[in-house]
Amino acid sequence: MANLNNKNLKLAIQKQGRLTDETLEFLRRSGLEFESYKQKLFSSCRNFPLEILYVRDHDSPDYVASGTVDLGIVGQNILIEEKPKARKLLNLGYGFCSLTLAVPKESEIFDIQDLKGKTVATSYPESTKKFFKENSIPVEVVSISGSVEITPALGVAQAIVDLTSTGSTLALNDLRALTKIYESEAVLIANEEALRNGKKDLLEKLITRFKGVLSAKDYKYVMMNAPEDVLPKIKKIIPGLKSPTISSLAEEGWLSVQTVIKEDVFWETIEKLKQVGASGIIVLPIEKMII
Ligand code: ATP
Repeated sequence: MANLNNKNLKLAIQKQGRLTDETLEFLRRSGLEFESYKQKLFSSCRNFPLEILYVRDHDSPDYVASGTVDLGIVGQNILIEEKPKARKLLNLGYGFCSLTLAVPKESEIFDIQDLKGKTVATSYPESTKKFFKENSIPVEVVSISGSVEITPALGVAQAIVDLTSTGSTLALNDLRALTKIYESEAVLIANEEALRNGKKDLLEKLITRFKGVLSAKDYKYVMMNAPEDVLPKIKKIIPGLKSPTISSLAEEGWLSVQTVIKEDVFWETIEKLKQVGASGIIVLPIEKMII
């Protein structure tokens, strides 16, 4: 890697897999300009002192912990399983999946207690052992590195613990989910030392950009018209960041109100606004939001 600049921040992301496309999209939405194609080992950003290294998802935490890179974007599931010496900084809102306990569809096991004395195959042995220990259910955990869902059919195990998102892999392999052990998403992790040393300022700048993209995703910009006398009611309904922007309309007694609304309360807020008399409601996506 002769061209890596050591003064630059280094970020490890998944080279090829479920997190790759959304990670590249997230970085580009954060305003970072770089080239990426499959054969590349790393990319240098044109407009930020950052090198992006393409690695296996499972290797990222080790690179971060050892300081080979300053930052990594990985599935939180790997952090929970491997407990690397790295600090989680942000949840990134994609790569959602669950570590799920499943049994064959035809199995007579319907409750986790029925697994007492049985064999469970998984690529997540630490998380699996912890789960059964916490539930005081003695099982034998067999560690398998891939294609875990085939093990019940092979007679290797009576249950599996694996990552699922839509459940289609379970269904394809005639498996039925018993319970979720935990939920996961892509997260940004950092090397502890990098958070303190000379790269601290750069890191803060990059994190501000990332947060700007994440906050924007959570909010919508809303403009509406309303009669002057309902303004106090509108102010009560909209839990904006600060107070809304108010301007007068050409029509006497009417105002234009502009604010941001959180995505998770968006529809109920719009309904309440309509009820008190707001009209001509326009909703716009926000590209970035620096709070
Ligand atoms: P590596 O890059 O180390 O070879 P892998 O082949 O196990 O890893 P993927 O299967 O691409 O990697 O999964 C990468 C990450 O995507 C997982 O660690 C998890 O956080 C996330 N993910 C999201 N949905 C799923 C899913 N349905 N199954 C597995 N992982 C999922």
